[in-house]
Amino acid sequence: MKLIYEGKVKAVYDAGGGKAVIVFRDDITAGDGAKRETMKGKGAINAEISARLMEVLEEEGIETHFIEYRRPDRMVVRKVEIIPLEVIVRNVAAGSLVRRYPFREGQRLDPPVVEFGYKSDEYHDPMLNDDIALALGLCTREELEHMRATALRINDVLKGFFSERGIILVDFKVEFGRADDGRVILADEISPDTCRFWDAETGDVMDKDRFRRDMGDVMGFYRALRERVLAG
Ligand code: UDP
Repeated sequence: MKLIYEGKVKAVYDAGGGKAVIVFRDDITAGDGAKRETMKGKGAINAEISARLMEVLEEEGIETHFIEYRRPDRMVVRKVEIIPLEVIVRNVAAGSLVRRYPFREGQRLDPPVVEFGYKSDEYHDPMLNDDIALALGLCTREELEHMRATALRINDVLKGFFSERGIILVDFKVEFGRADDGRVILADEISPDTCRFWDAETGDVMDKDRFRRDMGDVMGFYRALRERVLAG
């Protein structure tokens, strides 16, 4: 298969017939790739979690690029043109929100906060507003509104899904792509690399913050998260 894109932890191949295959590697990175390690089995865990969550969203009527999970570490998807925006939804203050503004870590955000970032390592993913996204020609106003509304629907579905499993969905990042018919659909991945998950009972961090903040046992918590995502 022809390599279309090689990212920091994933590679995307053209599978023909309007399809692509995403291969999740065992790498884990933070700080725009400044910190990096390899953890055996991590790619497979993220592929399986991402595939299951995309399925859950499809069942709730949210259009995604997901077609099927290929054991152990890949997803077959619809080929799309990625819109270079990171759409972040937050239910609880953490991470960069707490560093940039006077929020307390753990403070509830109701209604949830939606943020757009410009996907660019060179510029360090700066937050942008609608006018900047439009002036850069990244998408149309309708597409922006569609992405905002869809991100909030995704949040509703996933918040409920995780709450039933004793997990708080603190925040997450999603990306969208244009399909060949021009429709803007959910793309990329949804995994512990791109979300924050806290155990509702113990407060344990079950996501990439364990790596970012050197909290230890990254794989143990990624595995535990997979068990709970696949349960029931
Ligand atoms: N996130 C991501 N990719 C990025 C930036 C953020 O997947 O390039 C996710 C991150 O894992 C978290 C949410 O988006 O779940 C909000 O991240 P935040 O802005 O707090 O940034 P961070 O603290 O990770 O720098």
